[in-house]
Amino acid sequence: MAWKTMDDVALAGKTVLTRVDINVPMEGDKVTDTTRIDKIKPTVEDIIARGGKVVLLAHFGRPKGKIVPEMSLRHVQPALEASLGRKVVFVERPDRAMIDALPSDAVVLVENTRFTDMEEANDPRMAQFLASMGDMFCNDAFSAAHRAHASTEGIAHLLPSFAGRLMEEELRALEAALGTPQRPVVAVVGGAKVSTKLELLGNLVTKVDHLVIGGGMANTFLVAQGVEVGKSLAERDMGPMALDILAKAKAAGCTIHLPVDIVVAREFKAGAASEVLPVAACPADAMILDAGPATVTELTRVFEACKTLIWNGPLGAFEITPFDAATTAAAQVAAHLTREGKLISVAGGGDTVSALHQAGAAGDFTFISTAGGAFLEWMEGKILPGVAALGG
Ligand code: ADP
Ligand code: MG
Repeated sequence: MAWKTMDDVALAGKTVLTRVDINVPMEGDKVTDTTRIDKIKPTVEDIIARGGKVVLLAHFGRPKGKIVPEMSLRHVQPALEASLGRKVVFVERPDRAMIDALPSDAVVLVENTRFTDMEEANDPRMAQFLASMGDMFCNDAFSAAHRAHASTEGIAHLLPSFAGRLMEEELRALEAALGTPQRPVVAVVGGAKVSTKLELLGNLVTKVDHLVIGGGMANTFLVAQGVEVGKSLAERDMGPMALDILAKAKAAGCTIHLPVDIVVAREFKAGAASEVLPVAACPADAMILDAGPATVTELTRVFEACKTLIWNGPLGAFEITPFDAATTAAAQVAAHLTREGKLISVAGGGDTVSALHQAGAAGDFTFISTAGGAFLEWMEGKILPGVAALGG
């Protein structure tokens, strides 16, 4: 997919409407985690260094088209000023004359784009209004790129548009993992349910050389193949879909890896008695809550044989020990291989990211996407409207 970056455009004297993700967590009026704010700094600094003026557009929370005072971006302004080390002028409603009158290195922060329902409806009047405030559009919010909203997609058709540094970094990492990857490629897909990841599995089997299926969704595949899984989480009605994925994989030359051994317990709670069994030996009154050590050994061999890894979904119920063991061990293998320069590793998904942090492996991965829904839709092979609109 073609998209422009900051290197393709001249910014001197231009007012750049810059869509960012500063949807930070707050307690009272204090920002508790400034990660998202800190990450937009390279883009803001780059625009200013090249003579452009920055006008930030962002959503904050889910006000659903109404003005909700607690969700005003004015609460974020102090943290933004502290992180950027610059004056940030907050405006409820932007005004072109007022923006033009500001010094070129002032940063303007516009009120929550979702305070009107025209944003999520991608109403052309809102896109028009926003576009009239500047000369160019920079999208640095990959995490919002799967939604065609006025400030992410509509506006991009009205102004010369390009990706910000953060968006560029994310797109390059994802492109390196699934677009034109170094082969062989292994994908790990885990988590709770097949039904939420059918499109993902269907897309991956046509693109990767190895697909590791773990977590609760592996149970669904086992049941589909006639293996008993006792009281495990499994979607018994998804059998035909699972078999269809397996057939599709075979036709595409993608090797599927399911657990060869399992960790079972009678209760899902910390310290519950658990045992390791061969995959076909789950007792009728037990639940499979993790993959066993023989499975981890097999995954280690697969990871060692591959050059690229893309991972979404934990291999077990990692929130409770000892059922985090397979996820933690596999994550550490991937981290080690990445550190040694033998593997390109990309991961994303809310629970996946927390599992990798819990395993102490996140820092060594080549790229960790915090984009949630946008990351998944991209992995599913969907075109992200916010990215597609940066092509022209
Ligand atoms: P992500 O948020 O990274 O996309 P998911 O939300 O799809 O991941 O999956 C994570 C959830 O899957 C976790 O809550 C985890 O406990 C659950 N899970 C994984 N394996 C099992 C299992 N064998 N049985 C029940 N739940 C599981
Ligand atoms: Mg999740």
